Amino acid sequence: MQQPQATPPPAAPPLLLEQALQLLAQSGRPAPSGEAGSTPWLQELIDALVDLSSRDALTGLANRRSFELALAREVDRVARSGEPALLLMLDIDHFKRVNDRFGHAAGDAVLRSVATALVDSVRPMDLVARVGGEEFAIILPNCAAAFGATVAERVRRRVERSPVMAGPAGTAVDVTISIGGAFAPQWVRSTPALWVERADQQLYRAKALGRNLVQLEEGAASLVSSEERQALFDTHPGFEGQDD
Ligand code: GH3
Ligand code: MG
Ligand code: MG
Repeated sequence: MQQPQATPPPAAPPLLLEQALQLLAQSGRPAPSGEAGSTPWLQELIDALVDLSSRDALTGLANRRSFELALAREVDRVARSGEPALLLMLDIDHFKRVNDRFGHAAGDAVLRSVATALVDSVRPMDLVARVGGEEFAIILPNCAAAFGATVAERVRRRVERSPVMAGPAGTAVDVTISIGGAFAPQWVRSTPALWVERADQQLYRAKALGRNLVQLEEGAASLVSSEERQALFDTHPGFEGQDD
């Protein structure tokens, strides 16, 4: 009598190493160094892929995925430490007109320029993310309520004053943004979604009030002494009024 044939084990899914290396090369990142397949080589490959999957391809900013992770971490941190944190939601004003008048490539140049202006106007510890087409977010950990308006206003002004030479024959395109902001409720467990919703409500207000404006949720400002103020800005030179 014939023995029943043992069913072969299912084939392992192919490793997508080749594709991973192609993705890295396409993004302008170097291939991992060392002997292909070795543990350090694989570690470098994984690190590079994590970096790649955390960033927005057009601007190099944190993407929506890493923004959501960072926001959840910040909600936990605020609840544990009671330190204030500010979330800003930002949206380019009349961006559709830029695309319509000057074309999609000019629109892309505007997005990259706004991304640079945002990064340049906050501290290295703040997270700047592109969370949608022409929508950005900034998480500012350890930002006292009394300074929120100053910081947000500086960001708004920086974008307003940064010319983008993306018009016909390299002419300047005027770009402004509207900003809405809300502080994480200290000592109260919030959720990332609720925090974003509150900041978004302020962004809608800024749009409705005419654009190129900052609107922050009220009631968060607390009294801060001039000593505390000095201490904060001594620790973070350039954090206040750098383009005043
Ligand atoms: P508002 O002031 O109300 O925000 O007006 P708006 O025109 O900025 O807003 P709307 O949401 O109507 O338009 C957003 C536009 O952003 C529409 C879309 O074509 C454009 N857009 C989204 N993602 C990209 C992108 O990656 N590159 C370019 N060039 N345009 C994009
Ligand atoms: Mg929008
Ligand atoms: Mg817009």
